Amino acid sequence: MNNIVEKITKIVGSENVLLGEDVTSRSDFWPPMGGCQAAAIVRPANTNEVSAVLKLCHAAGQAVVTHGGLTGLVGGARAGKGDLVLSLERMRSISAIDTVNRTVTVGAGVPLQAVQEAAEEAGLLFPLDLGARGSCTIGGNIATNAGGNSVIRYGMIREQLLGVEAVLADGTIISSLNSVIKNNTGYDLKQLFVGSEGTLGIVTQAVLRLRPLPRTCNTALVAIENFDHLGQFLGDMDAALGGTLSAFEVMWNDFYSLITGDGSKHGHPLKPEHLFYVLLESTGGHEQSDKDRFEEALEEALGSDLITDAVVAQSKQQRENLWAIRDDIEGLTMALFPPLVFDISLEIQQMDAYVDEVRRQLSERWPNSQMVVFGHLGDGNIHLVLTVGSHDPAEVHAVETIVYAALGRRHGVISAEHGIGLDKREYLHHSRSAEEITLMKTLKRALDPKNILNPGKIFASLADTEQ
Ligand code: ZN
Repeated sequence: MNNIVEKITKIVGSENVLLGEDVTSRSDFWPPMGGCQAAAIVRPANTNEVSAVLKLCHAAGQAVVTHGGLTGLVGGARAGKGDLVLSLERMRSISAIDTVNRTVTVGAGVPLQAVQEAAEEAGLLFPLDLGARGSCTIGGNIATNAGGNSVIRYGMIREQLLGVEAVLADGTIISSLNSVIKNNTGYDLKQLFVGSEGTLGIVTQAVLRLRPLPRTCNTALVAIENFDHLGQFLGDMDAALGGTLSAFEVMWNDFYSLITGDGSKHGHPLKPEHLFYVLLESTGGHEQSDKDRFEEALEEALGSDLITDAVVAQSKQQRENLWAIRDDIEGLTMALFPPLVFDISLEIQQMDAYVDEVRRQLSERWPNSQMVVFGHLGDGNIHLVLTVGSHDPAEVHAVETIVYAALGRRHGVISAEHGIGLDKREYLHHSRSAEEITLMKTLKRALDPKNILNPGKIFASLADTEQ
């Protein structure tokens, strides 16, 4: 190890090789618990330095864990003793924005919010958006195929990505910085790295696709008393708004009443007595007609009793206040301590029965357990945050078994936008067939024959027979 660190120091400079307390003072968990265990943290300045470091690691069989903004929730960035962490925090370049082709080229270490702001300054939109926007990085977003609040309109980061530059395990640089939308010249190699969680290569740069900046934004919070009405309301609004629906976030009553309950800073835009709350938003290009269309669609839904109450934001501040309720994950995790967070997808028609079954099984075993449900219902993706009053590994495992087994029976997905990392690998078989997992391992072995890139993540073992 000392030998390789010495050689790496010559590549990146001693100030960019962190050792001892400089390593353990960082946490690779969220929420932060305990220090990073890696032998060293290396901070390369550019793709060539990443390549040179990986060549050395490949020759030595040295395990490498890549760090972005460290906001992941499944242990994908966790480093073990003896691992080398490659942090891309210095790779923060943002190119001039091409306003005609609507693209920007950025370094993997750029925070998401910096890309959003750069796009907006140029009169454009980078539509990926999630709560960790200030900390999470584009490289991490690509490695986990990040989703968030505007997927219903624009898709996940996979859809915002035109090209990537990545370094393979042996140091080979794959520069695939394509900047056109249509390119069917053989395999779409960039997709190999999207959602690969640092196991197939290290993304160092990306060409991102930008969109027109919306000129108008209409936001409402709506109350609904019947689960079946949620799906119908979604379909009706999507049709009435002509493709401009850009968020459809649902909060179950348990979420809304907890976040707006006693001592809350949020007030009650709607009374806490309804079964479901939808935060919906539509963005467009014409102030009066967009507003009219949005309000007419809501009035129609009220008139047909699909929804029972609605409040429309009349200012930017009111809009932010409504979103603050949905985004108050900190308030949630403080109220449900120690929190267990789940991120799942399933068909909308199955969600109600699924949530009921999980809730029933949890309260049978832990009568004092508490669970709240919310999420991106328009994408078929919900989050469960719950507590059983314990963080004991055996208890956590029992909760996971309940949550994932009920999902597996409904052909659901155990990770919609968080990835697999370490925490979900044991449950991968609920969502992917044996043949799919074997093909994933074949790809992993082909691109990283010595298994040095984020080893142990996604799969515990690369043997075909084991999951
Ligand atoms: Zn989410």
